[in-house]
Amino acid sequence: MTARKRTNSGKQKGQPSKRLASGPPTKKPLPVKYTDLIAIHGAVATVSALLQRRGIPTNLKTLKATVENQLGGREFTERHLRQLATVDPESVKLRLQLVQDEHGNSQRELSVSLSLNHDHSKKRSLGIARVAQEIGKLNKNFETRLYDYLSCEFKEYMSWLNEEHQPDDRTSWSSQISLNAPDIPEVALHEESLVQGAEPGDTRSMVAARSGTLQSLVQTDWYKDQVVHMEVENRAPPVYGELKYDLHPKVVEGCRALGIEKHKFYKHQAEAVDHLLRLDMDVMLATATASGKSLCYNIAAGEYFASDSNATALYIFPTKALARDQLQAAAEFFVKSKLLEADEVQPFDGDVEYGYQRKLVREKARLIVTNPDILHVTVLPKHREWKRFLSGLRLVVIDEAHVYKGAFGIHCAMVMRRLLSLCKREYNTNVRMTFCSATVSNAKEHVERLCGRSSIHTVDKDGSAKAARTILIWNPPLKQGAEEEEEDETGWRKKAEVKGSKSIRRSSMFQTARIIGHFMSADKRVIAFSASRKLVEITTKTVLELLDGKGLSHLRSQIRSYRGGYLKTERRKIESALKTGSIQAVVSTNALELGIDVGDLETSVHLGFPGSISALRQQIGRAGRVPRKEASISVLVLMDSPLDQHYGKHADHLFRELPEAVTIDPANNVLLRKHLVCAVAEKSCYSQEDILEFFGGPGIEEVMNLVYSGEMEMEDGGTFRLTASGKKMERNFSIRFIDDNQITVKVQRSGDVLEQIESSKAMFFVHPGAVYLNSGRTYMVKELDYDEGTATVVQVSDNPGYYTSILDKTRVKIISEAEFREIPVAGSSKLPDSILRVHHGVVDVTTTVYAYLKVNILCGQNLDKVKLDLPPLEYTTSALWIDIPPMTNFPELSEDSFFAGLHAIEHLLQSLAHLFLLLESSDLSGWTVSLHDGTGRPQIFLHETIPSGVGLVREIYSKHIESILVYALERLETCECGNTQEGCPSCIQITRCGYYNENLDKKAAISIMKVCLHPKDHLPVFMDQTGKKEN
Ligand SMILES: [Zn+2]
Ligand SMILES: [Zn+2]
Repeated sequence: MTARKRTNSGKQKGQPSKRLASGPPTKKPLPVKYTDLIAIHGAVATVSALLQRRGIPTNLKTLKATVENQLGGREFTERHLRQLATVDPESVKLRLQLVQDEHGNSQRELSVSLSLNHDHSKKRSLGIARVAQEIGKLNKNFETRLYDYLSCEFKEYMSWLNEEHQPDDRTSWSSQISLNAPDIPEVALHEESLVQGAEPGDTRSMVAARSGTLQSLVQTDWYKDQVVHMEVENRAPPVYGELKYDLHPKVVEGCRALGIEKHKFYKHQAEAVDHLLRLDMDVMLATATASGKSLCYNIAAGEYFASDSNATALYIFPTKALARDQLQAAAEFFVKSKLLEADEVQPFDGDVEYGYQRKLVREKARLIVTNPDILHVTVLPKHREWKRFLSGLRLVVIDEAHVYKGAFGIHCAMVMRRLLSLCKREYNTNVRMTFCSATVSNAKEHVERLCGRSSIHTVDKDGSAKAARTILIWNPPLKQGAEEEEEDETGWRKKAEVKGSKSIRRSSMFQTARIIGHFMSADKRVIAFSASRKLVEITTKTVLELLDGKGLSHLRSQIRSYRGGYLKTERRKIESALKTGSIQAVVSTNALELGIDVGDLETSVHLGFPGSISALRQQIGRAGRVPRKEASISVLVLMDSPLDQHYGKHADHLFRELPEAVTIDPANNVLLRKHLVCAVAEKSCYSQEDILEFFGGPGIEEVMNLVYSGEMEMEDGGTFRLTASGKKMERNFSIRFIDDNQITVKVQRSGDVLEQIESSKAMFFVHPGAVYLNSGRTYMVKELDYDEGTATVVQVSDNPGYYTSILDKTRVKIISEAEFREIPVAGSSKLPDSILRVHHGVVDVTTTVYAYLKVNILCGQNLDKVKLDLPPLEYTTSALWIDIPPMTNFPELSEDSFFAGLHAIEHLLQSLAHLFLLLESSDLSGWTVSLHDGTGRPQIFLHETIPSGVGLVREIYSKHIESILVYALERLETCECGNTQEGCPSCIQITRCGYYNENLDKKAAISIMKVCLHPKDHLPVFMDQTGKKEN
């Protein structure tokens, strides 16, 4: 890592070097207390390598005697191991487990693994010499880490140590430095804090031991062992890296202006900059929020600007707001360093005025901060006007790359291909790309699909400092009796979303409000998140009531709600009040999840799992940004949804499993077609080779379809151009949607436009008679006119007292099957004997909204059912379907309950797909049939709702369907709603059910799943796929 000079003054083996590249030089030797740790690390590394070679597990027991021997008889204990892990958590991994000894007694076992830098599968072929070399490297690394740790954590002591002292005599001096040296704390092990399954008393005391605030929280009279998991994250000092690339003095100046010294780059920053500049590679950075990702691309752009006065750079953000947010920081870097003039850094979006202002950007800007939409509608079609900029283009940055998913993601992938192909053929071939992404499980694969390039270097080892945190997973207690109903103010909400359902747990909202109130009264600053605008309002209101009830009315002015829909000025006011500390708490939608600086908050409370692990990390990261002595606290309050309750059972997955994957499918032919027309229009000559290079095989196929349908002509020499009808298609579309036909929601008389909805979605939201909410106001839909493209609404001053819920019917027809496979596949140990067959292919979906219900907001009762006469929605998309054993295998089930069981399973598959993929809840839908007339089998379909699909189902089919099925059965069997038919929102009831959650049967679902996954245990006579008896 860092280049350090070894000095010869070291007396004992393992004496650390004196100079630290990443900090001030150490003049005095370190006390034995610390240098001992280096020796211990060396011994542990050597002994574990030896044990590993012999296939012996490495734990404290197996290591102890030999390590002590190596250390010349000094004692070696658990404490030392925990200190090693504190200093170098990345390479010293400890795991505490309860194991059974030969007498069946539980024993505590601390296992150790040091990440020796070699492939474990090949360890046998590694010679002793290589192993020794690896150990040497590991030790050196540890020394560096120790210095970094000490100079970061014990700043005062280290600077005192390095001052010029005039000790009276050597002995007292060395005893003095030992006396003053602070102890390195022992790492806390998460297994200890895993409270699930612990005695209830333990939960309480373990949480209480963390801090005063938590102690008082678990001592409240409403604490009923809600904490199902406690995750302790230790503070970790930054890891610095050495930059091999020699930076331009102006760039160094720019860094300095931001307070960053050249030798103080985090490891991941140094790695990214080196790969971009020295190795000339595209780079993808997937590290934590606020880990200094933008500095990396600013440095790279700065180097290009400094070395070439014509060089330009393009920063792309998914939204205008995010782009504008980042513009400020970029301008500061480039202008202060004198790399660019102020007017050379420009935003370019829909708000930039036509005429002079836009001309200025075209003629002057060297750094443009923009969004993909404007590239699509303005820059690419008029690229000749942008010749100067495109000819100099050296760097394209795509920040928040994980946001580019679904249809929008594919559109942007197409826009990138158009940009890169245009640059390559007409302007310059030197465009480098940098991506930044939140942690998703397939970041590299995703950005490769996004830009169509491969061999992008991934940087994902985060070197920034970590704050200490305690994260509690909090499951509201089960209801005991009717007397607890009164507190349940979210009841109306649940009823509004999931059919008149009764939650079996106490209100998550109320629990959240109590926790917020508790933190406020403990003088902590709080940021709380909740999924919907309504919940934000009602949570805030409940906190106020609770404060009043506790005689804490003076805190009323200390809490605010925050969400989209508030006026901009109002939002700015709340943001700055938070930042300056003039208010103590805020309850927000995810509007505060990204970007905006809210200052230093100590606690965060999350009402409901926010849909993805990366969003949860993002939200948690809003608290505890400033490292402090006391750990920041985050509490995730689970709701009653399958996803939330799944994490209630598997809370450790939130912290140790891979986050969800983000998927796009650049071969989506609907969108490919549109963008190919643009691409061909943009270039005077578009050859077959170009299309193959940038749009691949599917591109060629689609361009031939366009020729066939008369939108394009192929000229001699294999180039393409648009025909008159092709020209009409050009650019007549928005890249935010897949459907070009939009319905404009207008207020009757005033004509005010409230929203634009894709025509294909209109019948779900603005059918005649629908109660429609917008910005906190309630409207009634009068008319939906597809020909005019309008939905006319009137505002209703009084709450109508009901909401509307549609009933729809879906039919799925299999068009072609791409592939099928049997479950289980190799490696799936939990599905030993399943006989399920899963297919993947193309289907036609026809959905008809045939009626809507008026449902009483308060009691969830159906007031009325109104028939609708709307045209069906038809589209072709990607689907998977599962063959279920025929009904004859379930003699105990009636035809109705068989269907209701399948229907329940379909719901769970839809819900649990969210465990693995970043999804909007409307991206997937399902269909269940007891006997499919095409195949003659009972089947469950899972299909995408975007025409032609974005790759979600293919991903589920190929990677996740086994796990989803296993978790589905587990959810059914463990959900606390017990042995009921109708289930509950934590298992089989979902918000988007065309049957309004009628026709569900949890018990039947369990029987079917058991037979499907474990047929040998649950079928009297084992049948195979075709229903034949097995011999
Ligand atoms: Zn349930
Ligand atoms: Zn349903």
